[in-house]
Amino acid sequence: MFPSSAASNIVFMTSTLTAEAWRIRIRGPCQSAGEESEADVAKVLCVLYDDPVSGYPPAYARDGIPTIEGYHGGQTTPTPETIDFAPGELLGSVSGELGLRKFLEEGGHELIVTSDKDGPDSAFERELEDADVVISQPFWPAYLTAERFDKAPNLKLAVTAGIGSDHVDLQAAIDRGVTVAEVTYCNSISVAEHVVMAILALVRNYIPAHQIVLDGGWNIADAVSRSYDLEGMQVGTVGAGRIGSAVLRRLKPFEVGLHYTDRHRLPPEVEEELGVTYHPDAESLVADCDVVTINAPLHPETEHLFDDDLISKMKPGAYLVNTARGKICDRDAIARACESGQLAGYAGDVWFPQPAPRDHPWRSMPNHGMTPHISGSSLSAQARYAAGVREILECWFEGKPIREEYLIVDGGRLAGAGAHSYSAGDATGGSDEAARFKDR
Ligand code: NDP
Repeated sequence: MFPSSAASNIVFMTSTLTAEAWRIRIRGPCQSAGEESEADVAKVLCVLYDDPVSGYPPAYARDGIPTIEGYHGGQTTPTPETIDFAPGELLGSVSGELGLRKFLEEGGHELIVTSDKDGPDSAFERELEDADVVISQPFWPAYLTAERFDKAPNLKLAVTAGIGSDHVDLQAAIDRGVTVAEVTYCNSISVAEHVVMAILALVRNYIPAHQIVLDGGWNIADAVSRSYDLEGMQVGTVGAGRIGSAVLRRLKPFEVGLHYTDRHRLPPEVEEELGVTYHPDAESLVADCDVVTINAPLHPETEHLFDDDLISKMKPGAYLVNTARGKICDRDAIARACESGQLAGYAGDVWFPQPAPRDHPWRSMPNHGMTPHISGSSLSAQARYAAGVREILECWFEGKPIREEYLIVDGGRLAGAGAHSYSAGDATGGSDEAARFKDR
């Protein structure tokens, strides 16, 4: 492992120097170019969700997944030099290791994988002390607060295996010169599909109807007395980036009215192609919509955007689907609106904190269609984000630039996708509550 004095030389170096800084670092303080120490390896600390309760799967429902080479708009799927896993395997859980062990160990690096991420006694906090790189997934986020940054003097790179780096205090990363990168687009379509599913599940009242079958019942009236057609409804998205616009494209054939708001307006030809109405802000959008879906990142501008005030401006009996981040909604305001009927239903897969405490009101409020955070972690998505993490690490270790679209913070400022879609600041406040999930 690097002596920490060597590490401290480069922790605050800027981004364009990131790869060079890595090489300086692996030389150690007294060595010059060409004198790199063989003992100098990176410690990569990777936090993943637990394996299935029944153990790591010996087989899968399908033989593989379709090969996807590019996304709408032309961006390519991740292009690592090679991969050491079979696409379609469970890579996001501890035993899956994102398929990284062989690659990292052959490079002389150390890989620590754990799911124990919350609280001061967690394996994550213990291992953080001398970690050089942290990898975490939004589904099971290792919150990187300013306090944790202070405990990690060697940390230079935080990789999000997925999309959405709000579990990292971005301001702290900016202040400390730590690079933050995520695998932009890797699971955007996975989430868009989940959004469409959740909208239909709420509007059609699918979940209670399914429960009737599980319970051995057949009461049609119970099932249909909250069931509507989506056709003809007004559907709006807050955020029309990769996920939001994919939701719009997928919903167009349902013959609904489409609406969006975003910080940047879509090109006129795209608005025309989708037949979508632009709103200058969320307030104007919600007043017109029967169904609202949130597809913007969590950052200081969007934290608690859906509070009592904004929800009161929605149409009575509107549906709200949030697969973006739990904290974009005020937890108790959502529960109150589901109780009162102001919201006819709420669905999504994102909570704050994660895992959600067992007494989180969204587990028990009426007419919800919540799941744990899964929409972006289908086996299909895992193959893409595992490959994307590998691509980022290959670039990092080889001193090549990380794709601009993968960067969130670099060189002490918001960069790449981060500069376009985030605002500086911290959205991790209150994340220590995640440790409560362990309390029975
Ligand atoms: P994109 O960056 O492509 O799109 C986000 C869009 O939100 C951008 O167009 C951005 O605007 C817009 N936006 C930012 N701030 C605001 C605001 N205050 N009001 C309205 N719009 C705003 O990201 P994706 O579509 O790929 O992902 C969106 C979010 O979804 C992620 O940040 C993540 O939190 C979440 N996500 C959830 C997953 C899950 O598993 N549930 C998986 C993947 C993502 P602009 O860039 O024009 O400034």
